[in-house]
Amino acid sequence: MKMQAAILRETGLAHPYAETQPMRVEEVELDPPGPGEILIEIAAAGLCHSDLSVIEGIRPRPLPAIIGHEGAGIVRGVGAGVEGVRPGDHVITVFAASCGQCRYCIRGRPNLCPTGFGARAAGTLISGAQRIHQGGRAINHSSGLSLFAQFAVVARRSAVKIEKDIPLEDAAVFGCAVMPGAGAVFNTAGVRPGDAVAIVGLGGVGMNALFAAVASGAERIVAVDANAEKLALARQWGATDTFLAGPECAAEVREATEGGLDTVIEAAGAAKAIELAYAITARGGCLVCAGLPGNEMRFSYAQADLVSSERQIRGSYMGSCVAERDIPKLLAMYRRGKLPVDRLRSGFLGLDGINAGFDRLAEGGVLRQILRPNGAISAN
Ligand SMILES: [Zn+2]
Ligand SMILES: [Zn+2]
Repeated sequence: MKMQAAILRETGLAHPYAETQPMRVEEVELDPPGPGEILIEIAAAGLCHSDLSVIEGIRPRPLPAIIGHEGAGIVRGVGAGVEGVRPGDHVITVFAASCGQCRYCIRGRPNLCPTGFGARAAGTLISGAQRIHQGGRAINHSSGLSLFAQFAVVARRSAVKIEKDIPLEDAAVFGCAVMPGAGAVFNTAGVRPGDAVAIVGLGGVGMNALFAAVASGAERIVAVDANAEKLALARQWGATDTFLAGPECAAEVREATEGGLDTVIEAAGAAKAIELAYAITARGGCLVCAGLPGNEMRFSYAQADLVSSERQIRGSYMGSCVAERDIPKLLAMYRRGKLPVDRLRSGFLGLDGINAGFDRLAEGGVLRQILRPNGAISAN
């Protein structure tokens, strides 16, 4: 079938993207779903900071590609052997593709599946297939999803079926912002009632970490960002203390918290943010790094301090989530108002507005802009 898609052909272009247009909206050919694959009509896809890193060229990917890794839509077709979903079902996409058979997958850590990482580096679906073409040449997949398009063919395991009454523009955000943010708090850090938690970086991931810290019963929740408006929102949404990022910030937080916090969630993926996050982690505490920096970024710390203070530094990829297990739990929390992702929505855009959307994200003032590549599609 033919469809419109935003094709990323070149990275590292200058701002504003609205003028340099790293992505071009063009017609491409999408193959029908192969064995174990499904065809999804994309209802909503979030613009995430990791997409921006790909566009900036600091997270290199095979090009040309269709990026976009956070979304929800409606199943329109299924390939041979697909079980558990049928046309008309609503799904949330999962950006960490997994094989279901390797030692990571069977031990409940499919987010670490090496086959999934290999497929992402190669620009294919997890089977190795490429289903998008233009003029006889393949267009690369991204995260096994490629959601900045009207439709996507993805592996069955890259989608989780959800109930139809959940608005798809809210559901989309669970695919990335919610899983890495809330999952870092619930799964990776295991925050308990009474804990003292800090969140460094208040984008879509950081705000979901904030919601989750509030829901966990954390007693003290410190929020840090370079944007004062985001700090004001964080206070409204349950942060007990907020600090504007800057040279004095670490000392201020350490003083206000008597030496730092039990758990620090770093959700910015920037060198300064990680240094700050380590500096405000209390003795015996844990720094959880959930923000994805560029591939070349390095972070150093004093080894003697790590040992004598028993600090931990942990990575958290997709919030250590098992999507099939955790998305239903997280949606149940959303239904009870504990993960109010609709508050994060900074507006809708169509495919033709996607470059300008990434300009706004780069400026740092927006949380989640939602792409609707098919306009406002009906729910069945
Ligand atoms: Zn993301
Ligand atoms: Zn696997």
